[in-house]
Amino acid sequence: MGQRGFNRTPRVGGSTTKEAKMTTRRDFIGGAAGAMVGVAFCGCGLLDPAHVHAQPAVRRREVVVNGRRIKTVDIHAHCAFPEAMAMLGLKVNPASLVMNTDRFRAMDEQGIDMEALSINPYWYKAERDVAEALVKLQNEKLAELCAEHPDRFVAFATVAMQHPDLAVKQLEDGIKKLGLRGMSVGGSVEGLELADPKFHPIWAKAEELGCLIFIHPVGTQELTKRLRGNGGLDNTIGNPLETTLALSHLIYEGTLDRFPALKICAAHGGGYLPFYAPRSDAVCVTFPDRCASVMLKKKPTEYLKQLYYDSIVFTPEALKALIAEVGVDKILMGTDYPFPWTHTSVDHILNTPGLSDAERTGMLGDTASRLLGIKPG
Ligand SMILES: [Zn+2]
Repeated sequence: MGQRGFNRTPRVGGSTTKEAKMTTRRDFIGGAAGAMVGVAFCGCGLLDPAHVHAQPAVRRREVVVNGRRIKTVDIHAHCAFPEAMAMLGLKVNPASLVMNTDRFRAMDEQGIDMEALSINPYWYKAERDVAEALVKLQNEKLAELCAEHPDRFVAFATVAMQHPDLAVKQLEDGIKKLGLRGMSVGGSVEGLELADPKFHPIWAKAEELGCLIFIHPVGTQELTKRLRGNGGLDNTIGNPLETTLALSHLIYEGTLDRFPALKICAAHGGGYLPFYAPRSDAVCVTFPDRCASVMLKKKPTEYLKQLYYDSIVFTPEALKALIAEVGVDKILMGTDYPFPWTHTSVDHILNTPGLSDAERTGMLGDTASRLLGIKPG
């Protein structure tokens, strides 16, 4: 792997707001490299050496909080494998989903030590035979990548949710045989909610294995007409809305009561749900009959406190609001790479005021390391 043989260098980052702000300012003024010190970038063993050597050197940012070097973990990082997509006649788009040197450069620049890789589902329509072969190849590729770069990547197993018995086996094999650290799933499966009883065997297996489930939206196709037009609303609104729907159904249909030990991480800060959570309790008080078909063991908002969320909410104020609703120990840093929603996920957490060092290090990587079986930094 490319970082082999690097020299230890002075560290950057810091726990104080002032230091963090300075880092951000340098990032804006001089480009991200201005804030960094450290190591020459040597490329990645998977890649064409000629291409690797054509890349300019990039220094790896090392994140330090109160003197402690933090192993930062990005819980929300995408990738794709052309060989798997070709099985359904699809091409990778954007090309940056394919692992290449840009990935390592971006991680080094942004201070991301490890990514927990996930693949957005595109195979939920596939027949059983194709889905079986595709997921097998895909999970093996993920495992191969992680084995080649154990200091940079772990990965979520992909599973064929549309064939639950197969998905159960794929999950178990992914965790036990391939060393994957959890499972990624879409926010819905061909129009079915994740709370559909069809998926109960999958949740039972995930609960038994104790692995993290990363829920990422696949959009709200049912609203395509209303989400047309300027603003990219199918993504802007459609994606967080789907996560909101998925989580709400898992709560109100009693799925989280049935599988209380499930460890779920929702993308994009959980969509809209944590930001207007009190309404989810108020409806059961205001219109009790609307909450009567499934008797929940807890208030709806209490389930939010047992889930995990990535930190992709953009501002300190939004992060503080999320923390207030779900607890700081439930938030994991995410970037959405290679989709360029943010390049400053580390600084977002460093710069948000009013947090302790332990709270920052938890969000930056410690909590994710614990959930994913990563040796802490
Ligand atoms: Zn994403």
